[in-house]
Amino acid sequence: MLKALLCLRMYAIHIKIMNNENKTIHEFEFNLICEYFSNMERQGPGSPEVTLQALSFIDNLTDQSLIADIGCGTGGQTMVLAQHTLGQITGLDLFSGFINIFNHNARRLGLQNRVKGIVGSMDNLPFLNEELDLIWSEGAIYHIGFERGLNEWRKYLKTGGYIAISESAWFTEERPAEIHNFWMDIYPEIDTIPNKIAQIQKAGYIPVATFILPATCWTEHYHIPQIAVQEAFLNKYSGNKTVEEFIAFQRHEAALYRKYKEYYGYVFFIAKKVEL
Ligand code: SAH
Repeated sequence: MLKALLCLRMYAIHIKIMNNENKTIHEFEFNLICEYFSNMERQGPGSPEVTLQALSFIDNLTDQSLIADIGCGTGGQTMVLAQHTLGQITGLDLFSGFINIFNHNARRLGLQNRVKGIVGSMDNLPFLNEELDLIWSEGAIYHIGFERGLNEWRKYLKTGGYIAISESAWFTEERPAEIHNFWMDIYPEIDTIPNKIAQIQKAGYIPVATFILPATCWTEHYHIPQIAVQEAFLNKYSGNKTVEEFIAFQRHEAALYRKYKEYYGYVFFIAKKVEL
């Protein structure tokens, strides 16, 4: 049996196997993880308040604006954005199950004329060069990596357009080995806030604002809603080792956060594209 060390909240593309081989996630596991997260409003740490706080730094939007939300999941944050902006929003996610829920939510809220979910991959975006006024991405850019995403997505933005991204970061220069090693294993691109800001600038953006997401974005909005889903899952898939391992990993991740939250968290980075 695979010892699946499932990357953080990751119905991910890779699971790390004990022998350190990277294997594409099995379809059954993929569907399971999708089902697990479909039961929740969000698929990563965040909150409506934080989405609006990030939006408050963005001053170029009109009813003609084109906005993309990359790795939108079921669209928790996209619907908040849509209710506070006037332009067209395209939500893009790799998982069709999430996009179905996304489009259902857009219709339920009467936003279907301005908000569309599409299936696609963040490493091959379907946008035109210099088409977008704003690129949004909460808790998702790690799938292709922060620097790669900043560099590759830049061409789709108009000059003067904005990018708003939440991403994991270290709060201190040093940290206990247990949490350091955990992150090095799942996302070695985690870095300190000043280093992330330097990467933004190097990629051709002016860093406009940076703020740390409050701990409630992890607890109240992400970990606590999972508790009931975990119980239901363990009942429904009783005896299934993959499910047990996946849930054990989610619980481990939540326990590590409680223990080490002064050393790391999610940070919102807002930046503006400039001519190089
Ligand atoms: N933004 C949402 C979801 C974050 S979870 C929220 O904050 O709640 C990360 C999302 O990235 C998942 O929905 C996952 O399906 C998506 N994802 C993973 N790899 C992707 C890829 N290559 N292209 C597009 N989306 C991807």
